[in-house]
Amino acid sequence: MALMITSECINCDVCEPECPNQAISMGDEFYVIDPARCTECVGHFNEPQCVQVCPVECIPINPWHTETREQLQAKYEQLQAAAAAADKPA
Ligand code: SF4
Ligand code: SF4
Repeated sequence: MALMITSECINCDVCEPECPNQAISMGDEFYVIDPARCTECVGHFNEPQCVQVCPVECIPINPWHTETREQLQAKYEQLQAAAAAADKPA
């Protein structure tokens, strides 16, 4: 499942650089997680890194984006392949 950031976010900027998938960015009022890029850190770490660092515990599971571990792994592999393709010289 992708995770999401709630309005309790205090915009402390700590989670954004910790995300290995560049899934976190500043939204209109507080930080947001792109569910297309969040793998719950599957493929990179055993625990969601943003949850580990968030001081106000405002990053729950996103109930609108339920995925199995296998689907998260597949998303991770797609993101890796896309990043590798983008890195290739033209
Ligand atoms: S769980 Fe991992 S991949 Fe998802 S937003 Fe947090 S740090 Fe990024
Ligand atoms: S670590 Fe938590 S409070 Fe800080 S910006 Fe990220 S979601 Fe918001």
